[in-house]
Amino acid sequence: MRHAVPDIVPLDNILPDEPLLMMGAGPVPIPAKVAAANGIVINHLGDTMARIIEQVKAMSRYVFQTESQHIMGVAGPGSAAMEMAIVNLVVPGSKVLSVRNGFFSNRLAEMAERVEAEVIRLDVGSAQAADPETIIAALRQHRPNVLTIVQGETSNTVFNHALPEIAQVAREMGCLVITDAVCTLSTMPLDMDDWGVDAVITGGQKGLSSIPGVSLVAFSERAWTLITTRKDTLRHWCYDAKLADQFWYQKSYHYTAPVSGILAIHEALRLICQETLPRRFDRHLKCSLALQAGIEGLGLSLYVQGPSRLNSVVGINLPEPIDGKTLLQHMSKQHGVEISGSFGPRIVRIGQMGEQCRAHHLFRTLHALGSSMQALGEAVDLPSGVAALERALGTYLPRFD
Ligand SMILES: *Cc1c(COP(=O)(O)O)cnc(C)c1O
Repeated sequence: MRHAVPDIVPLDNILPDEPLLMMGAGPVPIPAKVAAANGIVINHLGDTMARIIEQVKAMSRYVFQTESQHIMGVAGPGSAAMEMAIVNLVVPGSKVLSVRNGFFSNRLAEMAERVEAEVIRLDVGSAQAADPETIIAALRQHRPNVLTIVQGETSNTVFNHALPEIAQVAREMGCLVITDAVCTLSTMPLDMDDWGVDAVITGGQKGLSSIPGVSLVAFSERAWTLITTRKDTLRHWCYDAKLADQFWYQKSYHYTAPVSGILAIHEALRLICQETLPRRFDRHLKCSLALQAGIEGLGLSLYVQGPSRLNSVVGINLPEPIDGKTLLQHMSKQHGVEISGSFGPRIVRIGQMGEQCRAHHLFRTLHALGSSMQALGEAVDLPSGVAALERALGTYLPRFD
């Protein structure tokens, strides 16, 4: 044999003794039920799978707030769900208006270019949400076939709060609306049918608090009409929604479904249904606002101001002398808490998605952040940060329930 057996270290010797607390921009911690489901393999076809798929679809309709009969899973990351929406709804040569807030919204534009659309990027300045008047003017000027927009831009923690208004105008003009809700779905309202969104994309490992690698995408009836009346053959076999429909709606075979990941997402969705959306939105808002108050209590400042601030991922300005990488390493090594850096602005990011929104995680994370800053020479006020966090948690009034 030409190739020798490699020297391999067992996982136990690579992973830390105690799992790190994952408080970054994803993946996020998963509930025990999700982890247990992810350890099971069943037949990808047959009655058991059929019952599970029916429930995944029914629960997804609740979570996406839609009557859609075209919600399907996809084996792959959130980006695979993005690709599935794009390749099925963007016909080569058609016109796409891409609202670009940052890294992920630009990925939708790139994907549309790869299927040979004429893509118009509408740049929104960093740290601010898309302005509806500008977008509506661009819709009227360019008359695109498809509009792409993110609800939350994870990369720079911006929230496109005007999405309902923008989607409504696009819809009236006959333009299909593709919305990326990877970091936001189930953390804040998104009413797919009421808002007239034609494709909603989500991943497993962020808002839903499931595992990475199995994602969901929902198509509206209008989107489905385009999919079924397109004359050209899709170049992407795995992402062809008409083929995926065979598995998701006709109990038949497309590719071997990621059964364990589907079981995991079933459990994640079941826990959302059990909690109910209003209570889940309140838990997310309460925790995120409290975390933000705690960070400001430390004496640090937040990257985005006002209604453009995303609550699902919080961006914190780094004080001048602090190096982001060093800070992250210190928090991870000394405190077992992982947060995210950024590929752009001088910020670090703390996630507030799914299981990240628990009071005990917030105290541990704020302490890790403040204490690490102090160790690196930054004078932050840890007691007043913790007090602000405590106070905000105690005074939150439910808004959704
Ligand atoms: C993370 C993320 C994605 C991509 O998800 P992957 O699972 O990394 O492919 C897309 N859009 C948004 C808004 C995200 O936060």
